[in-house]
Amino acid sequence: MRIVITGTPGTGKTSLSKTLAEQIHYPRLDVKKLVEQRKIYRIIRGEAEKTVNMRALQRAVTEWFRNHPNGIAESHLLCEFDAGADIVVVMRCQPDVLKKRLEKRRYSKDKIRSNVESEALDYCLVRAEDNYRDGRVMPIDTTRRMSAKTAAGKILNRQGDKVDWSAWLRKNAVRLAKS
Ligand code: ADP
Ligand code: MN
Repeated sequence: MRIVITGTPGTGKTSLSKTLAEQIHYPRLDVKKLVEQRKIYRIIRGEAEKTVNMRALQRAVTEWFRNHPNGIAESHLLCEFDAGADIVVVMRCQPDVLKKRLEKRRYSKDKIRSNVESEALDYCLVRAEDNYRDGRVMPIDTTRRMSAKTAAGKILNRQGDKVDWSAWLRKNAVRLAKS
């Protein structure tokens, strides 16, 4: 089974994909490393972050899955195209909890805000559902700590979690509208 793990930064993709890969003896593709090694990016003047070439990344990940039909690929970028996966796990985290996790990581205020808002608006889930058809997408809620075993069980039995951040959106609607 070709497994994609995606989701907003801080939702627990790396932690889960590492333990899951160990547990089910699957190789794991670290997309961040692949992008660096194969230089699948451009540096645009005036932009702080590298711009990933999505077409080239899609080709590279699809090729990796061809060579590893039982494998796990992990990245927030994998919601942006169909990487040829059989199952796409979208990691989720309640926005206030995500904010705390990203603060611990010492992300900039701007980066924290944009990631928290993306999570609140279901950005990655919506993109994944657009790109991966036929019911391949399943959300996993990591707001509360969950053992890798529990997460693995959910994924292998395709039991997705229900998430609903609309209460956060209502509480923050005025601030969002003004920003
Ligand atoms: P990502 O790869 O999606 O950015 P990480 O796996 O690096 O996320 O985890 C981000 C932070 O959240 C880490 O500090 C990690 O310890 C914590 N974390 C990861 N998974 C969980 C979980 N299921 N419950 C609580 N905290 C978690
Ligand atoms: Mn990560």
